[in-house]
Amino acid sequence: MKRSLYYKFILGYVVFGLLGFLLISTFSSKMAFDYLLQEKAGLLYDEANQLASDCSAVYNGETTSLETVAQQLCVISPSLQSEIWVVNRNGTIVADSNDGARRGLLVDFDPTAIGNQNYGIGNFYGAFPYDVLSVSAPITGNYTTYGYILIHMPISQIQASRDWILNVVYITSAILFLLSLIILLIFTQTVFFPLKKISRGVDEYASGNLEYRIKLASHDEMGYLAETLNYMSDKLNEMEEYQKTFIANISHDFRSPLTSIKGYLEAIIDGTIPPEMQEKYLTRVITETERLNKLTQGMLTLNTLDSKGLLSRTNFDINRVIKDTAASFEVICNQKNLSFDLTFADNIQMVYADMGKIQQVLYNLIDNAIKFSHSNSTIYIQASPKYEKIFISVKDTGIGIPKNSLKKIWERFYKTDLSRGKDKKGTGLGLSIVKEIIQAHGENIDVVSTEGVGSEFIFSLPRSTNL
Ligand code: ADP
Repeated sequence: MKRSLYYKFILGYVVFGLLGFLLISTFSSKMAFDYLLQEKAGLLYDEANQLASDCSAVYNGETTSLETVAQQLCVISPSLQSEIWVVNRNGTIVADSNDGARRGLLVDFDPTAIGNQNYGIGNFYGAFPYDVLSVSAPITGNYTTYGYILIHMPISQIQASRDWILNVVYITSAILFLLSLIILLIFTQTVFFPLKKISRGVDEYASGNLEYRIKLASHDEMGYLAETLNYMSDKLNEMEEYQKTFIANISHDFRSPLTSIKGYLEAIIDGTIPPEMQEKYLTRVITETERLNKLTQGMLTLNTLDSKGLLSRTNFDINRVIKDTAASFEVICNQKNLSFDLTFADNIQMVYADMGKIQQVLYNLIDNAIKFSHSNSTIYIQASPKYEKIFISVKDTGIGIPKNSLKKIWERFYKTDLSRGKDKKGTGLGLSIVKEIIQAHGENIDVVSTEGVGSEFIFSLPRSTNL
């Protein structure tokens, strides 16, 4: 395909050249010939009329003889490159520019045959072995026609003039054709070579070499295409890297609970763990399976969000959802001696969102706040309106997030070093899910946190408009 594009262009170029020369040799040639014929015929006709009026005087007896006229014809003839005859009414040539060589009767001479036209083409009743352009003018006087002046110019004369013009056109066209090679060169430089580089790059990408860079310095559409492809390969590369780490993380997160489950169960079976201790270790096995379950659930949730699972939005009171979600943590709060401080700007604050998914957002944020809070502290939750939105904040006074981890906490499977020891059950998926849900609503979530002081997560939701 790559080669053929270039050859197609060259073929088109050659065909263009051939058609151009064909056009000159047919159409232009005919146009030039017709033009020259008309011009010569007009010229000769004027001359014939001039001579006819001179001869009219002879016939009227005003000048001495036809011989004088014949001599005059001999003088004019070379400059016209033609032969000139004086013909009687009955068709006898009485004087000619060939020193009288043509004198005699013209068989079948019919003056009316040319009469209506200015000129005629042919061998003139067999008088010439070649074609001539013949022009006639009547010699008149005293209301009679005495005879005719006939001027014959060989067609080859006109053809020679035409060929001269055509040669000029041929040479000019040939030069133009060569100059138009510049277009071919520009095409090669700006389209063909860049396209070759681009398709080479695409081949590399197709064979899996996403590191390959298409190097094109041009700033035109080709350069833009190359840049776009480079960008695409970068993104694909990133995605490939991301998937590799994703799989590595999943494998790691699944392997550790499975290894402990296996260890506990083997120890129970081979008696390392005595029967009276079994309950304790089986409870740990259950905790690990719960963690596995949580991991699977989280991944499934992310998957549905990834595939742009449609939100089923309704109008609901966000205050109620916050209260209910906070209430579901009552037992664990009591264990850690934590309390909630809920502040609502209004009794009822209606939002337009997917209630189930927002419940999950609140659940994940409150769950984190509880996990990373110190005992005997308070978790502050606020909901307040601003313009068309309701802003919800979940704030704790726990361990906080180190500055360099702040951007990473939204990544899948990311856990800060601080939390690894404190929260062994965490999957690192909670905040990814939260972010995906908020973004699916077209809203934003942000975090403000200081290590050792606490963290605050704030997100917005659209207020109900049709109330
Ligand atoms: P996990 O299931 O591990 O909590 P998340 O995605 O919810 O996963 O959180 C990612 C990491 O962000 C946590 O492991 C923790 O390091 C940090 N983090 C999240 N919320 C808080 C918080 N309120 N206080 C301190 N660190 C937090």
